[in-house]
Amino acid sequence: MRVVVVGVGAMGLSAAAELANRGHEVTAIDRFDVGHRFASSSGATRVFRLAHADRDFVRMAIWNHELWKRLETDIGRPLRLTRGLLWRGGLTNEVGDALAAEGVEHEWVDRARQAELFPELRWADDGPVVWQPEAGAVRADDALRASLTRLRRAGGALVGGCTVRAVEPRASGGVEVVADVSGARRTWVADRVVLAAGPWAGPLLGDLGIEVVLTPCLAQVTYVKGGDAVPWASRPCLVDVPPDGASFGFYALPSPGIGFKVGLDQPVRDFLGSDLDREPDAAREQEAVERVRRELPAFDATPVRSELCAWTESADDRFVIDRIGDIVVACGDSGQGFKFLPMFGEVLAGLVEEKPLPDAVAADVASLGLARFADR
Ligand SMILES: Cc1cc2nc3c(=O)[nH]c(=O)nc-3n(C[C@H](O)[C@H](O)[C@H](O)COP(=O)(O)OP(=O)(O)OC[C@H]3O[C@@H](n4cnc5c(N)ncnc54)[C@H](O)[C@@H]3O)c2cc1C
Repeated sequence: MRVVVVGVGAMGLSAAAELANRGHEVTAIDRFDVGHRFASSSGATRVFRLAHADRDFVRMAIWNHELWKRLETDIGRPLRLTRGLLWRGGLTNEVGDALAAEGVEHEWVDRARQAELFPELRWADDGPVVWQPEAGAVRADDALRASLTRLRRAGGALVGGCTVRAVEPRASGGVEVVADVSGARRTWVADRVVLAAGPWAGPLLGDLGIEVVLTPCLAQVTYVKGGDAVPWASRPCLVDVPPDGASFGFYALPSPGIGFKVGLDQPVRDFLGSDLDREPDAAREQEAVERVRRELPAFDATPVRSELCAWTESADDRFVIDRIGDIVVACGDSGQGFKFLPMFGEVLAGLVEEKPLPDAVAADVASLGLARFADR
């Protein structure tokens, strides 16, 4: 099949690579290039984990974990640093229960055990803490490079600097993709199109009559030095959720070579398609530094740098993945998509080929479809 993939973030690039490896003629198009800083998938690292409060996400994460191993074997190098993860605050009981129900290794942690696992972390003393060892940091930029290698090795094409203006199903079957490249108009005709446009997905889908509530925003992460006094690069990840469970609160992960990366799970501002200003917010950086001083007092909290990046909330904080005719849609990453990069490849390629997914996750993936919004 001829397949055009629009968008080469974690979702689209993984799909393009998988489809090319399955023998399809793939053209991946992006208005910028792989790893650019204006959308969602840029930066050195992301947290990966099996820990989720919902059992369906745990099941998908278990499958995804196997797919990461397969990708790492295929590409010949590790793409993840396994450091473990401590989850505390809101949703901890739900996370522990979901891990237990799905048979994932985990441990309830008391103060003494936390001191063994993460000696510099302040003991919060306000609720349970769960340890999930098979977690850590994905080398995000390297995972994108690996996917690009897979795409190219299998003969797929990448066209950067190319903005898709219209995606139009053809009466005779297939889809026409119209784009601007360096001021010139270019058209592709494909049997299938994968639309994975990240924070720009809403308008493209709207033009196709696919109405999905998507709320893109810009969020910020800060790398702090960590310092020579602590082996911060080998320390675990942290998710510290406010008691009401409404956001991820504060999260942290080692980003070897740069610093300990921390984020406050509150958008800095709305994402506007035409706004390419990615200047970090100084007040938010200071907030992150203060939080490191409080939670990790032995760390050197001097900021190395901060980065603004986009994510796109769906109406229920879950991915939106579906096929409508010859168009496969992937969006609504809800700030938790990077870790699922290999799963996106499998799922989106499966939708393109109309092939069933493994029984263990088929219903879970199907639940990410557009039908769930029908009554809203
Ligand atoms: C601060 C922050 C922290 C995060 N932390 C984590 C984490 O710890 N763990 C985790 O798993 N996830 C995390 N995420 C989320 C993760 O980064 C995203 O879920 C993931 O990168 C989404 O990828 P995507 O492919 O959907 O979108 P994108 O990466 O945004 O890709 C979409 C692509 O489509 C292209 N495009 C759009 N419109 C067009 C068009 N018209 N024509 C051509 N190309 C177009 C864009 O240029 C872009 O490259 C975080 C996100 C942020 C912002």
